[in-house]
Amino acid sequence: MTPTDTSRRRFLQLAATGVACFSLGNSMNAWAAAPRLAVDDPQGKALGYVEDAAKLTAAKEPAYKKGTTCAGCALYDASKAEGGYAPCLAFSGKAVNAKGWCRAFAPKA
Ligand code: SF4
Repeated sequence: MTPTDTSRRRFLQLAATGVACFSLGNSMNAWAAAPRLAVDDPQGKALGYVEDAAKLTAAKEPAYKKGTTCAGCALYDASKAEGGYAPCLAFSGKAVNAKGWCRAFAPKA
């Protein structure tokens, strides 16, 4: 098993959890501002989440591709953005920074 396989498996587990929570939230038909993902959140740390992707380098984070941010990620729900933060499906709908990034980054189609 390669590190990429482990990352992919972890991403799929988190995405499934996020989708389930997102569906539950929608069924309640009341989406208040999502709580922000804490910088010390264990899931965030596991996926290398940072609030400001501009501070990343290939040396710090080999998976990071320059110029990618949460705002360009398919898991970032920009329709519910508030103050530069919006819910992320990888983190159970917790809000992440549009300028942030994590290893679960998936480019928008
Ligand atoms: Fe969520 Fe994508 Fe940002 Fe990762 S890069 S925190 S998956 S929006």
